[in-house]
Amino acid sequence: MTQRPLILVTNDDGVLAPGLAALADVAARLGDTVVVAPESERSGSSHAITLHAHLRATPLRERWYAVAGSPVDCVYLGSLHLCPRVPDLVLSGINPGYNLGTDVFYSGTVGAAAEGYLRGAKAMAVSTDRTVDPASIEAIIHRLAQRLLAADEHLLWNVNIPPGAGESDRDIEVTRLGHRAYKETVEERRDLMGRPYYWIGGPPEIGEHEPGEDTHAVQHGKIALTPLELDITARDLEKTRAILFPLD
Ligand code: MN
Repeated sequence: MTQRPLILVTNDDGVLAPGLAALADVAARLGDTVVVAPESERSGSSHAITLHAHLRATPLRERWYAVAGSPVDCVYLGSLHLCPRVPDLVLSGINPGYNLGTDVFYSGTVGAAAEGYLRGAKAMAVSTDRTVDPASIEAIIHRLAQRLLAADEHLLWNVNIPPGAGESDRDIEVTRLGHRAYKETVEERRDLMGRPYYWIGGPPEIGEHEPGEDTHAVQHGKIALTPLELDITARDLEKTRAILFPLD
């Protein structure tokens, strides 16, 4: 790379989250950095984009912006307008809480990284166990990001870091998405007028995981690095044709 890499840093936990500061530290040691993050927490916002309302980007200090929008809004606005060019790398996180298996469909952390990838950058989403101090994993994230920057092709990585994971090769596993189980919960409560309202989504449950899955890796204290592709077409189209045809 002839020029210093340009790195866009974002998250879904808001511009004040400690994980964002840690990731910005990592980025500053790798290249020129622009931070664009939601002004308040937007966890679980997936790939949401704001198309029917205006967006404001508040400069907090040089090359730091708080956007009143989703993580994807941040990356779109950041890549195409607030950065001097499309960044070489988008770093998203560090999310306090894993994004494993089907979590990637809900995660704003992963959504932001995926948007960076769609805009033409390399991208990495980083999540940890809630007990992990984000500052304590800056070194390993730095090493992974260095590798990603040096790669010949554009890649999208989803990285999950458990407590106590080291930095040797044997502490890092290249995985596929596993199956993360949650307690399925709909809790109905009543407001002061007696009308029902709901809290949905229960806590994660301990599941049985297969070797090779991201869930299995973190359960065994390994860093799970899952390379993602954004084409979720079913592998076997013939199966659908057999169900469909002949129509009569
Ligand atoms: Mn989050």
